[in-house]
Amino acid sequence: MAQTLHTIAVIGGGTMGAGIAEIAAQQGKSVLLYDISSAAIDKALDGIRQRLSSRVQRGKLSAARRDEILMCLAPAQRLEDLAQADLVIEAAAEKLEIKQQLFQKLEVVCGEDTLFTSNTSSISITEIGRYLKRPQRLAGLHFFNPAPVMKLVEVVRGIESDETVITQLVEEMQRWGKQPVTCRSTPGFIVNRIARPFYAEAWRALEDYVAPAQVIDRALREAGGFAMGPLALTDLIGQDVNFAVTCSVYHGFWQDRRFLPSLAQQELVSAGRLGKKSGRGVYDWSAVQPEALAEPLLPQREQQVQRLADGELDVEGVRVVATQGETATCLAVRYQQPTVVVDLSLGDTVVIAPAATNTASHTESAVRYFQQQGKQVLRIADYPGMLVTRTVAMIINEALDALQKGIASAEDIDIAMRTGVNYPKGPLAWGAELGWPRVLQVLEHLQQYYGEERYRPCPLLRQKALLARYATLHTTTSLEASHV
Ligand code: NAD
Repeated sequence: MAQTLHTIAVIGGGTMGAGIAEIAAQQGKSVLLYDISSAAIDKALDGIRQRLSSRVQRGKLSAARRDEILMCLAPAQRLEDLAQADLVIEAAAEKLEIKQQLFQKLEVVCGEDTLFTSNTSSISITEIGRYLKRPQRLAGLHFFNPAPVMKLVEVVRGIESDETVITQLVEEMQRWGKQPVTCRSTPGFIVNRIARPFYAEAWRALEDYVAPAQVIDRALREAGGFAMGPLALTDLIGQDVNFAVTCSVYHGFWQDRRFLPSLAQQELVSAGRLGKKSGRGVYDWSAVQPEALAEPLLPQREQQVQRLADGELDVEGVRVVATQGETATCLAVRYQQPTVVVDLSLGDTVVIAPAATNTASHTESAVRYFQQQGKQVLRIADYPGMLVTRTVAMIINEALDALQKGIASAEDIDIAMRTGVNYPKGPLAWGAELGWPRVLQVLEHLQQYYGEERYRPCPLLRQKALLARYATLHTTTSLEASHV
């Protein structure tokens, strides 16, 4: 039977530890906060007090409730003070040795039933538990920043983690009002792995001079429906932090080219241009209006995926085609006709790219056509798979790869990407909506164009595309048969 978790020990009073301690105290748990630095504990407790008091001032919390929550929190001076803990949540510095040593010591201090969890973003849970006598009671409990606000928690299985421990953690997180998903301990877990192409494709477009940073961000935000453009988001996360996660996933997957870090981003990190926190990153934050970089998510109205693919348009003799991963120039040469390719769009912004063989008036015809429909038009250089389509196709491919390898269930993958990073759609639902054959085609064209491993479609995508084609064929054949 699941034990009741009364006492929660939080280790590390930094950004994450303070947030996690706050949530646990809100649940009425007895929370012990330990940090190697007593100044860090004081700072964490002060921060929680201030955050709660500010909610009291804004009328969101009663003073009595604030005091009740604060009463649940106590500093712990020594690891030995954590002996009573039912659940330990470790959020100390991201160093393997620190985490391994902490749990080895705690194994001596705590009771046999104490659940051990680490909030690590990038270290293998299996490796953290390597020297434990009972590694089966260790799991990952990966909260997102800011922990009190973000609902998603990845509950991560190490190779030895006991399934009853995972179930208990899932149920506990549900009681805390969180949205738990479960996954196997692999680099980046669910979110930090599947989100890599969101950043990587934007860096590549920037490096390839396809469009300025603002245009790339606008395309992903206004046409792609993402809450924030990828480049602006890296400025907010911190270029150093985002680059370190990319490098960690890249090395975790044995330098798989799919996760290749960007040289442009490395340059920013080397220059100390770390983003908003240092004043400059991709953007100069003294000049930039933050609201210009972030827009609320698209309203929940029925969003139509642009299906120009099903019927390309002829606009005054110009072929206007939804990108399938080939450049406009390639199509123009093949069909001997002026061509404009159009990116996937969920909103009122349309991204277009003209063939190099077009005259200015050809391209203007296409621009006018979309403007007459009330669309904002962003024009970029001719680029295979454009900005949104290739990014979404790569995210879908990564999600399918994780699904195929049993990292997490399809449902949990989609929940994780919607709640952890606010994607407008879960990648697997998005893939089904776009059509697997189309996603496959985009990636195959990209792979052919670059001759690179990076765009290789995963076997599950090939399988799904085949089955979709089979289903179409089958329906057509039965329809024909019924007309005989
Ligand atoms: P942080 O630097 O803000 O805080 C880390 C704290 O750990 C510091 O107060 C430090 O004094 C303390 N510490 C260092 N060694 C210790 C030890 N041996 N014993 C006890 N305390 C020790 O870091 P953070 O951003 O809060 O990250 C903590 C953990 O959470 C890391 O594993 C990180 O990967 C993970 N994480 C961070 C984020 C994020 O956005 N910051 C998100 C999810 C997960």
